[in-house]
This record gives sequence, C-alpha cells and structure tokens, in this order.
Amino acid sequence: MPEKTIFQKIIDREIPAPLVYEDDLVAAFNDIAPQAPVHVLIVPKKLIPRVGEAAAEDQAALGALLLAAGRIAEKLGINDTGKGFRLVINHGRDAGESVPHLHVHLLAGRPMEWPPG
Ligand code: AMP
Repeated sequence: MPEKTIFQKIIDREIPAPLVYEDDLVAAFNDIAPQAPVHVLIVPKKLIPRVGEAAAEDQAALGALLLAAGRIAEKLGINDTGKGFRLVINHGRDAGESVPHLHVHLLAGRPMEWPPG
C-alpha cells in the first residue's frame, strides 16, 4: 500500500484541518499557505494523482470537484460576476504541482492577473 498523501490524511481525519465542504466524493479545506484572501483546496476522496491521469471511471469525481467549487463560492458570497473566483489545477513540474493528489485551487478576494505567472 503506497503511503497516504498529505491530503488523504486530512480527508481521513488523521491530520486536523477544518473542512469547509464535504460530500460523498470530495472534501475541501483551506490552503496552509494562502495565495489570496480566499484559498480553498478541493480534493477528490479517491486518490487520483493528477488530472491527466484521471480515468473514465473518475468522471463523477471530476464533476463533483467543479460542483463543489460553485457551492463553496456560493457559501462564501463570491459566486457572482462582481466578485468572482478563479479555479486552478496544476499538473506536473512546469505547472508547479507539489502534492500528487489531484486538487482544485479556489482563489478569490483580490483581483487576479492574466496571464497567470
Ligand atoms: P500544488 O502546488 O498545486 O500541488 O498545490 C499544493 C497546495 O497544497 C499548496 O498550495 C500548499 O500550500 C498546500 N498544502 C500543502 N500541505 C498542506 C496542508 N497540510 N494543509 C493545507 N494545504 C496544504
């Protein structure tokens, strides 16, 4: 059995981190090193290392990640175009991936630049 990722340990409640959202397929918690006033990580409960390695059977989990983002944004009062939020998924070295457990970054609370760095 491969060692659990840090995110798996949070999902399994082995590392304490308050969950801001949870359903059957995903859990979400605040990033430990926030890059914006709002920085939530949304993670599938099933270990999918990165988005490019997701399989057809992961379709429901992938959809659940985006649905959760909308629900969390609604809860935080940023689910309108006046405020808004950005979703980011990093796959691999050049993108800056550091935790090999698929996660969506939900960033908000400040203007975002484009193109991203
Ligand atoms: P990425 O670079 O896309 O793989 O994102 C990994 C994110 O996980 C980074 O933004 C880290 O700050 C965050 N992170 C790492 N360890 C923890 C932790 N124990 N709790 C919350 N966030 C974490």
